[in-house]
Amino acid sequence: MDKIKMITPLVEMDGDEMTRIIWQQLKDILILPYVDLKTEYYDLGLVHRNETDDQVTVDAANATKKYGVGVKCATITPNAARMDEYNLKSMWKSPNGTIRAILDGTVFRSPILVKGIVPYIPTWKKPICIARHAYGDVYKNTEMRVEGGSKAELCVTKPDGTEERSLIFDFKSDGVIQGMHNIDKSISSFARSCFNYALDQHIDVWFATKDTISKTYDHRFKDIFAEIFENEYKDKFEEAGITYFYTLIDDAVARVIRSEGGYMWACKNYDGDVMSDMIATAFGSLAMMTSVLVSPDGIYEFEAAHGTVQRHYYKHLKGEETSTNSVATIFAWTGALKKRGELDKLPELAEFAEKLEKATIKTIEDGIMTGDLYLISTLQNKTKVNTEDFLKAINERLTAML
Ligand code: NAP
Ligand code: MG
Repeated sequence: MDKIKMITPLVEMDGDEMTRIIWQQLKDILILPYVDLKTEYYDLGLVHRNETDDQVTVDAANATKKYGVGVKCATITPNAARMDEYNLKSMWKSPNGTIRAILDGTVFRSPILVKGIVPYIPTWKKPICIARHAYGDVYKNTEMRVEGGSKAELCVTKPDGTEERSLIFDFKSDGVIQGMHNIDKSISSFARSCFNYALDQHIDVWFATKDTISKTYDHRFKDIFAEIFENEYKDKFEEAGITYFYTLIDDAVARVIRSEGGYMWACKNYDGDVMSDMIATAFGSLAMMTSVLVSPDGIYEFEAAHGTVQRHYYKHLKGEETSTNSVATIFAWTGALKKRGELDKLPELAEFAEKLEKATIKTIEDGIMTGDLYLISTLQNKTKVNTEDFLKAINERLTAML
């Protein structure tokens, strides 16, 4: 069969550790034999980020802006231990944080459901899609340690040069402070992204913050959502038969646990970070969670929700066999190829991606899976395979479908 042609390149962002190994294997086994793959490649591996003073991350984000669709491998966010391990010039920021700040979007995360992997919450029947605001708050904060005897204030210098001050705390003893921000424009595009994606997916939207405690900051989120919904989406939602509902974050947590699933839960940046890990784990596995960043101007960046699976990588380096789950990384690629196919009007590319997803799910439902799923699958006949054999098993089913 002829390889499927592409028109516009995908922005390909390579990453670190075990996911970098998987990245190469999955391209070799599942994509390159079938697609005449066109990508603009950026190496976001920590070694190259360090060499380029992290410029490569900024370049990759700008390229994604230019072409409209990117696919990203998991990357290391450096901490003190990584400074030594990689001999870093600086403790570079989280690449995801940098990319999100440039694209200013919303991250949507949904679990991939397969037969045999039963959610820990027995009532959950349908996926819960987490929409995570991807700009600001604690991810763009400024923090300090404060010496006892200091007075900390918030100070804003207005355009006319006057200052507005508000006391944070009068420190009698040592402590810490933190300053963070968000922007009406970003919150508005967060709201619109959520409402648009919900219309697209035909699901209700739940939004929750802590506005009873954060009466100005979180309240601003609540007001902006309400205003935009009322003015721009109310009729469309009614027509589509879906609803928007706001509640306090603690109430939302209780309702989510008692629910059936099948809706979007919109969260502020930090809440979305934490809750998406909770949702992924409760649905069975962090390795079965897809993630896509959608910017207000319709730019898409696909990735897996999990990290670089460091422990498996060290085993791999020692020559030991690994059984690392590549599903979320495969779905990052299929998401990107599907979107590229849609935008460039290449139905055969989108169809290929669709089949690759089906082949992946079929493999697991046929009982062939990696160790993480093997531990929790309720299937009677199941086999644990290594990282590469899992990809090969998917390929057998894919060739049969094509
Ligand atoms: P992690 O890589 O997600 O792994 C945590 C644990 O979850 C693993 O040790 C493994 O458990 C299990 N796991 C995750 N993904 C798996 C997969 N695909 N297949 C099988 N098991 C999987 O998180 P981490 O260990 O906290 O972080 C490692 C590095 O990733 C850090 O440097 C962090 O900065 C980075 N990170 C990057 C991203 C991103 O780029 N989006 C996100 C999060 C973290 P077992 O070891 O028990 O098998
Ligand atoms: Mg997280």
